[in-house]
Amino acid sequence: MARYTEAVCRICRRENTKLFLKGDRCYAGKCAFERRSTAPGQHGTRRGKISEYGLQLREKQKVKRSYGLLEKQFRSLFEKAEAQKGVTGANLLVLLERRLDNIVYRLGFASSRSQARQLVCHGHFLVNGRKVDIPSFLVKGGDSVSLRDKSRKIAFIQDSLETVVRRGLPSWLDLDKAAFAGTVKELPSREDLSVQVTEQLIVELYSK
Ligand code: SF4
Repeated sequence: MARYTEAVCRICRRENTKLFLKGDRCYAGKCAFERRSTAPGQHGTRRGKISEYGLQLREKQKVKRSYGLLEKQFRSLFEKAEAQKGVTGANLLVLLERRLDNIVYRLGFASSRSQARQLVCHGHFLVNGRKVDIPSFLVKGGDSVSLRDKSRKIAFIQDSLETVVRRGLPSWLDLDKAAFAGTVKELPSREDLSVQVTEQLIVELYSK
């Protein structure tokens, strides 16, 4: 499976915002971006005037990297969003949120999306009672996502569930901690998503 190999805190510094890619460390006062927010590299202290294209590119990179996707995967999700009815930018964000790795992360089974992706790949989760090990699987409204019985003793999953309160559970998800299961109450609308993104910039970038 293709993945980023760059030191992830550099990505936050490059995008000039906290992307919460490292789980608990992002909240624990050890955040590299809080200590040094300049861009990585020799000339990182200079953040010059940015062109319109630059703004669009950075916004796309920020979202793509937040969800841990590579360009090809992100582009194909964009094309899917474009083919749907409604506003393309909002459709794209909803599709990103519907990915199984994101749902596992949002429900608190993992402390980061990359950890969630690994857990999904290793077959720890069931969707509506059936094993699904594809991180890009798109959940639907009403679907249930649960941890397999044999995976419930994994200590870091239990720890992660305890700390989900810090991140907050989105209103469109329901979590039953005792049952190690969550439900997608309904698919979110753009208003339900707290992500700080100007998605129109991404649409403009890909429409060139
Ligand atoms: Fe980003 Fe988290 Fe690293 Fe801070 S600790 S720079 S939020 S990945």
